[in-house]
Amino acid sequence: MKERLSLKVSISGVRGVIGESLTPQLAARFAQAFGTYLGRGKVIVGRDARPSGVMLQEAVFAGLLSVGCQPVAGGLCPIPSLQVLTRAAQARGGLAVTASHNPAEWNGLKFIGGAGLFLNRSRFDEFIDIYHQGEFSFVRADKFKPLLAEAKPGRPHLEKLFAALDVERIRAGRFKVAVDCVNGAGAALVPEFLRELGCRPLLLNAVPDGRFAHPPEPVPENLGGLCRAVAARGADIGFAQDADADRLAVVDENGIAIGEELTLALAVKHVLTKTPGPVVVNLSSTRAIDDIAAAAGVPVFRTRIGEINVVEELLEREAVIGGEGNGGVIWPAVHPCRDSFAAMGLILEIMAVSAKTPSALRSEIPVYRMVKDKVAGTPEQAHRAVKELKKKYAGRGEIITLDGLKIVFKDAWVHLRPSNTEPIIRVVAEARTLSEARRLVRLFKGELKRLLIGP
Ligand code: MG
Repeated sequence: MKERLSLKVSISGVRGVIGESLTPQLAARFAQAFGTYLGRGKVIVGRDARPSGVMLQEAVFAGLLSVGCQPVAGGLCPIPSLQVLTRAAQARGGLAVTASHNPAEWNGLKFIGGAGLFLNRSRFDEFIDIYHQGEFSFVRADKFKPLLAEAKPGRPHLEKLFAALDVERIRAGRFKVAVDCVNGAGAALVPEFLRELGCRPLLLNAVPDGRFAHPPEPVPENLGGLCRAVAARGADIGFAQDADADRLAVVDENGIAIGEELTLALAVKHVLTKTPGPVVVNLSSTRAIDDIAAAAGVPVFRTRIGEINVVEELLEREAVIGGEGNGGVIWPAVHPCRDSFAAMGLILEIMAVSAKTPSALRSEIPVYRMVKDKVAGTPEQAHRAVKELKKKYAGRGEIITLDGLKIVFKDAWVHLRPSNTEPIIRVVAEARTLSEARRLVRLFKGELKRLLIGP
């Protein structure tokens, strides 16, 4: 399985397997290219909690210093905090050492521009051109900048959160909040965040040493421990972050994981009651968002998958809320990035304002059932398969080819697309019932497998 181990370079950044495809040499080279692209200046460097993070971070410092940048060590910090800090510090850019929800053997690099946003397609391509050309603007020995460090990298983020949230109302709720930080970067900031919101924290896997207690993707099958803790300890709600703390899943007061799709639906519903306005989500996010927006009389715009695609459209449309259905809530009142802290804050605020339990709030969200699956395949294979299926299903539903292939049927949809970060084709279907969503996934997995094997 050589392909599985190969380096992935995409708009989502660089990801690879430590000891296989991602080496300190490579990290230094990417940092040299990024520093050259930025044109020197201050660059904030942060990392998630993976044990390989320090090695890559030091390589990144070397690369940035060699081309005359001024690296500022943000150390271990959640990725949204790093984005906010990059902007607050008026840095030229930021560089995150993280592989997000990928398993522990992976690590990677994400590249942030001066506004605290990930590089968009054209900026990313420009930067990667510099990487491939290898013409880096090395400086002479008398031009080196010192390495600086930021003692409280999460503070600007917390200040933005507390300014945007109704802190007094949340404090009055005195919520008992269980959080599973999966021993990831979120653990560096969660205690302070909850304490200042007057919550009674019940922390699980909150040692940020990157020793993931379970696979770090916050999907229901990985949240058994959190569900049991919420039920056994009588918490008002449970939250689960991924390893770099941009995504969030919710467990209700009965210890039931309500699915990461509903994180965004809850946040959208709440923000629209406070500040009605356009909503921007990706193509694979639940249709419940459309129903919620229609009830509020506001439009929904859908984008390609990938945080920066949603963020750019969100800024363009002056949307009040948006995100990705995988638990990635983007609330521009804090910062236009996926942010598990903004998501936690909004959901605690709904509980405080409505005096409703998470299960009651969930019952107010239109019911759709989503099934997510995948088939092994390269982007090239996916491209060929999509072309075939587009022809085959023309006229049987609305065909959207903005990103892979989405077919919208009357009460259901299916979306097939190559992953940005792994050699797989994702198959996502949503319908009114679980059995119908499963049927669609089975059908289209079968279609893909048939086409991938080829004639
Ligand atoms: Mg993440």
